[in-house]
Amino acid sequence: MVKHPAAILLGTLLFLGTVFAVIRGNLFRGDASGSGPAPASTNITKSAGKDSNHPGSAERVRRYCANPYEVTCENPTRTTTDPTGRVDLQISGEVRALRVLRKILTSHADWNSKQVEDQLVTEIYTEKRVKRIESAYRWVKAQLHTVIERQDASVFSVEEKQAILSRVDRVELNLPPPASNYADAADVFTKNSIYYERTETGQMRLRVGGAYLLNISSWYNLVFSLAHEFSHAIDPCEMAADAVVPTAYRELISCFVRTGWVDGARNTCGDNEQVSEVFADWMAAEVVSSSLGNSEKDYSGEQRVQAAVNSVRDLCEEAVSLDVLSTQNHQTPAIRIGKMFGRNPLVRKSMGCENTPAGDYCAFSPRK
Ligand SMILES: [Zn+2]
Repeated sequence: MVKHPAAILLGTLLFLGTVFAVIRGNLFRGDASGSGPAPASTNITKSAGKDSNHPGSAERVRRYCANPYEVTCENPTRTTTDPTGRVDLQISGEVRALRVLRKILTSHADWNSKQVEDQLVTEIYTEKRVKRIESAYRWVKAQLHTVIERQDASVFSVEEKQAILSRVDRVELNLPPPASNYADAADVFTKNSIYYERTETGQMRLRVGGAYLLNISSWYNLVFSLAHEFSHAIDPCEMAADAVVPTAYRELISCFVRTGWVDGARNTCGDNEQVSEVFADWMAAEVVSSSLGNSEKDYSGEQRVQAAVNSVRDLCEEAVSLDVLSTQNHQTPAIRIGKMFGRNPLVRKSMGCENTPAGDYCAFSPRK
């Protein structure tokens, strides 16, 4: 019996949806609501007054400073809200995307797969959502430039800086419409992830799953996720593809091992390495923290905690990006959130936490 192409598509997606629901991607979010290019221009609910008016606020800041992992991951099924949006871990984006798909198929039983995909893209990748991702992409790219450009000549030579920045500039944001942009990976329409890839022809691109778009809401979560994926373009193992690995990266990797972020036996590129994922987490924290430190001067302590929590809230599960490399190679949530993001000096400064002791955090340092 010949199956209708659209039925085959639905069958495949339903199967994938079941798989995703079981292994759970690392991005589960609520409906999109914010739309601004940066936190400062999103709809911010200002706090009613200073922290002293919110007795719980100072206590929450104190708890965050003492144990960022515990505060980020407590009440795992509760929706967490920050001034720009929320992170909803209850309903997976895949389920939402599959509901959209099922509705299209029910209403248009005579459509072929191309028509179904086109409609799916129209409903999920709306102009408003696409614009929001595009503005986050531009913001993250600019922040990556800033982080690299501010390193002086003792860290990167002119050639190394150029090599890094040219890779940053080569990364394209590859979004539908048209649906044919994902012709080689139609299941991405219902995926929860953002991912980076380098194609066989050397194209470097970021792709965004439709389920992610349906569930995204917090700007902080969006920029952390995008910054993490973007940073893979310049992680030590990806840079090796161009045979130009900046010397200062070696020092950085040694620091990753000293701080316990990277297992000493897994510090060289190749199967089983942890270097690239830790680098991407570390760089994403550098990017997001520059926002936490500067843009939200009007936030109360509680709102700052919530912004920090939502940045990495979806990393609480011991889960599993759908990108195979990440699945195998990233660190535990306690390390990613508690010892990396939660120890970032700017994240801590934004909340008035005491400094991370030198030696517990890593930064670019002069090459040797
Ligand atoms: Zn990654």
